[in-house]
Amino acid sequence: MAAKRKYDVVIIGGGPAGLTAGIYAARSRLKSLLIERGATGGWIINAGEVENYPGFPDGVNGLELADAMQRQAAKFGLETLAAEVTGLELKGEQKIVKTGEGDIAARAVIVAGGSDRFKLGVPGEDEFTGRGVAFCAVCDGYFYRDVPVAVIGGGNAAMNEALELTKFASKVTVIHRRDELRATKILQERAFAEPKMEFLWNTVVEAIEGEDTVKRLRLKNVNTGKKSTLDISGVFVAVGFRPNTDYLKDVISLADNGTIITNEKMETDVPGILAAGDIRASSIRQVAGAVGDGAVAAIYAEHYLAGK
Ligand code: NAP
Repeated sequence: MAAKRKYDVVIIGGGPAGLTAGIYAARSRLKSLLIERGATGGWIINAGEVENYPGFPDGVNGLELADAMQRQAAKFGLETLAAEVTGLELKGEQKIVKTGEGDIAARAVIVAGGSDRFKLGVPGEDEFTGRGVAFCAVCDGYFYRDVPVAVIGGGNAAMNEALELTKFASKVTVIHRRDELRATKILQERAFAEPKMEFLWNTVVEAIEGEDTVKRLRLKNVNTGKKSTLDISGVFVAVGFRPNTDYLKDVISLADNGTIITNEKMETDVPGILAAGDIRASSIRQVAGAVGDGAVAAIYAEHYLAGK
């Protein structure tokens, strides 16, 4: 069955990369649609304050930044659709974007679908999600006032989560599988200076236990094999991301970790399919980078459509 809806450009994903691509594409008078399955804005809507996005010397709230980008894109005529993309098919030069809301035909596609959080994959994690297992301190930190919590991971996300939680929790224990953080130095300095924070090094979580809600973690020291428990009321998991590219693996070339391989024009190995933001193999995973990617992708999508 032929797709009823047809666009010049379909953008998959409504984070900073997708929204910027949308601003550029719509402003170029291309008939453009952005498809997003959740809330528009991507991960920055969970970020609280974004400190390193140029133009905001006092920081900017992630939700407000995303909202401003969305309003700017809509002003130029970007259409949006709330739907999950389940597939992408090539039909000659046309691209058919399969969604829960039906098929949509596009002359060019910009994939900016970002990534999902990794889980720990330990017993109790799924069972207690929403009842003590959480993934966003800005969203859920308030529920952990004056109680001890743990954060799992040693990257930027883990430090951001832990620092945010010090506003609420009585104590924040960071549990990291190595003896050194991966997070950027400025976040490390803040974390080590924070009196409410403690660190358990070389330690992994083996199980999350509780009754109605989480009560304790079962831990193991990876060097000594020694097992222990830690009583906590909440555990925030921040152990990295996996790209949302399962539906693309038979369509375009992906790196081993599932991210999309592009050239400097954000083009994939299929003409007319471009990628932008965290979903790209060489992404720096920063808002400023995503915004740059989105602009480049939209400009080269326009070149492709003009046959340049
Ligand atoms: P990340 O940098 O990949 O760090 C993930 C952390 O989780 C690492 O410390 C890793 O340990 C640990 N880990 C992974 N799998 C684990 C497991 N199964 N059990 C226990 N620990 C595990 O991920 P991220 O912190 O989510 O950040 C992702 C990207 O977004 C990064 O590029 C980051 O710079 C960027 N980001 C930037 C900001 C910012 O403020 N600029 C904020 C958030 C995120 P190892 O260190 O041992 O590998």
